Amino acid sequence: MTERTFSIIKPDATRRNLTGKVNAVIEDAGLRIVAQRRIKMTEAQAKKFYEVHAERPFYGELVEFMTSAPVVVQVLEGDNAVARYREVMGATNPAQAADGTIRKLYAESVGENSVHGSDSAENAKIEIAQFFTDADIVG
Ligand code: ATP
Ligand code: MG
Repeated sequence: MTERTFSIIKPDATRRNLTGKVNAVIEDAGLRIVAQRRIKMTEAQAKKFYEVHAERPFYGELVEFMTSAPVVVQVLEGDNAVARYREVMGATNPAQAADGTIRKLYAESVGENSVHGSDSAENAKIEIAQFFTDADIVG
């Protein structure tokens, strides 16, 4: 089933000029980048995006990190894109990520872990709508 997921290339990756390398892993996995924009997230955007983690001890640090440098927000399309991209990203903690995954290849720590990917199709729709309109997405 063709579906869409939302991706963010995080500040630790943009800072190290890894946008192209991350995109190569995404495309090699059969996912198509159907929308993409480089932005500097505002504090309000980051707080809203990660509001599900508001009670977690790392929330403040996470918001600070996500606003510390530009990010690249993306919409990815493909067969089972949500699950497929989670696979391609690897475990949240790079120490536990499988070989060949983006986080194993590039992430610096559990917090500065290079990429975000939606965890469900329902959340993908919500997250895409926070950053893109239908007209931005060219499938
Ligand atoms: P993401 O939502 O970014 O795709 P994820 O779904 O693998 O990652 P979550 O549990 O949703 O992981 O955590 C969201 C983000 O919060 C992580 O990607 C990471 O940047 C940060 N984070 C999670 N756990 C920790 C932690 N123990 N310490 C610091 N930061 C953390
Ligand atoms: Mg998550």
